[in-house]
Amino acid sequence: MDLETRDKRDKIEIDILGRIFARSRLRERLETLSAFPQGRFAGTAANRAARAYIQEEFKKAGLVNVRSEPFAYTGWERGPAWVELPSGRVNAIGLPGTPPAANISAELVDLGPAGLAEFETNASRIKGRFVLASSAPITEGKRDLHRNEKFCRAAAAGAAGFLYTRHLPGLLEETGSIGWDRRSARGAIPAAGLTFEAGERLRKTARDTPALAVRLSIESRFVDTQGGFPIGELPGKPGASRVVIVGGHFDGHDISPAAVDNGTGIAFVMELADLFAPYQGIFPVALRFMGFDAEEMGLLGSKAYVDRLARDGQIDSVAAVFNIDCPIGQKHERIGLSGHAELAPLVSEVAARDPESIQIEMKVSPASDHFPFAAAGIPALYQCGGGGDPKRGRGVAHTAADTFDKINFSRAKPALATAASILLRLAAADPFPGRRYTPAEVQKTLAGDTEEALKAQKEWPF
Ligand SMILES: [Zn+2]
Repeated sequence: MDLETRDKRDKIEIDILGRIFARSRLRERLETLSAFPQGRFAGTAANRAARAYIQEEFKKAGLVNVRSEPFAYTGWERGPAWVELPSGRVNAIGLPGTPPAANISAELVDLGPAGLAEFETNASRIKGRFVLASSAPITEGKRDLHRNEKFCRAAAAGAAGFLYTRHLPGLLEETGSIGWDRRSARGAIPAAGLTFEAGERLRKTARDTPALAVRLSIESRFVDTQGGFPIGELPGKPGASRVVIVGGHFDGHDISPAAVDNGTGIAFVMELADLFAPYQGIFPVALRFMGFDAEEMGLLGSKAYVDRLARDGQIDSVAAVFNIDCPIGQKHERIGLSGHAELAPLVSEVAARDPESIQIEMKVSPASDHFPFAAAGIPALYQCGGGGDPKRGRGVAHTAADTFDKINFSRAKPALATAASILLRLAAADPFPGRRYTPAEVQKTLAGDTEEALKAQKEWPF
C-alpha cells in the first residue's frame, strides 16, 4: 500500500478516527500519569518512573528503536518557604529556579498584575524592595507578561525578591519556574509563590505601613543532574530520509499531579503511537514519538534536544515538529503554526470538517517545547486547549488542583482526533509543504511583542 492517492490517506484516517472512539486507552493512561507522585517533576524518581512507563507503552504500541536519550542540566530541589509579617508567618512556595533566601528583609512594592505600565510607573521604587506581582492576566489593550518576564523585569530593576501572588481565591499557590537559560532555571533573586489570600494580606500590610520590612525565607538547592527523552520510532517507506517529531512534555510541577499540564499531552503522544504504529513503512517520512523532559524548568529538554540535533548535523532531517501541550480545550483547540504559513492549508483542511473546534494561530508562542525548534527555523506546530475564560489565566494548571478530575473528557476524543488528523497530514504529505526558515525569516516571525518579551527574559535566540 502506498499513499499515491488521497483515497488511501482517507482510508487510514477513517481507521484511525474509528479506533480513537472505539479503542482509546486515554482515560486509563491519564489515571496512570496522574498517579505518579510529585507531578513527575524534573529530576525526581517519579520523573524517571514516568519515563520508563512511556517507553514501555511505546514498545507495546509496536514502535521500534525505543530508548531514552539522556541530557545534562542543572535541576532544582524544593524546601519550605515563608514570609514573616509582624502579624505572623505566611506560607509560601519557592518558585523553581529560586536561590535560597535566609530570612532576608525588605519593604514591599505592589505592582498589581505587573504589566509594562506598572513597571514603568514604579521604576524608582523597585530597587531593594520585594516586588508583589500577581498572576492576573492583562486581557485588554496592553501586552500580557509571562510570569518569567515579570520576574526578569523585577530582577533587572534591582528588586530584593519576587513574590508571585495568585489572582484567583481558593488558597492555592501558583508555581512556575523563573530565571531561564539554556541549561537551567536559576533566578538572580529569590522568588516565591503565594496564595491569593496571603497576597491580599501582604498588600494590605504594604498599604497600611508602607515602610514596613517583611522577611523572606526560602530553602532550595541546585543539583547537576541528568534528564531523558523517551523516544520511539515509526520507520517510513524505504528511502524515507526525513522525520516528523511528535512530542509533549511529560514532566509537571511537583506541587500537583500535573494531570492536565501535561498528563493530557503525553497521553496523546502515547495514543498517537498506538494509532499510527500499524502504518509502519508506508509514509514518506519517519515518525518520531517522544516525551520532552524539564519543560517546566524553562524548556530545558527541548533546548538540549535541538542543540544536539544541530551539533550532530541532524537538524535538516527534521521536516516538522508537532508539540502537544494541554491539548484539550474547554470549547475548542488551538493549533499554532509558528509563522509557517505554508502549513496553513494542511491544518485548514482538518479545521474545515468542524470549524468551531479549531482555531489556527499563526504567530509564535514561546512558552512550550515547539519554540526551540521554531527558533532554529524548523516548521513547528503545537496543539493546546482554547475557549477558557482568559481572565482565569492558567486556571488550575501549576497548582495543587491540577488533578485528574479537571480533565475535560467531553472534548478529549475530538481533541485527539484533531491531533491525529494533523499528524496524518504531516506524515503523508508528499512533497512536504513546510521548509526550514533562515534566521532572518525566523526573526521576522518574532518581530514586535514576542521579540520584546524574549529580550526581556534573555531568551532572544539570535
Ligand atoms: Zn505544559
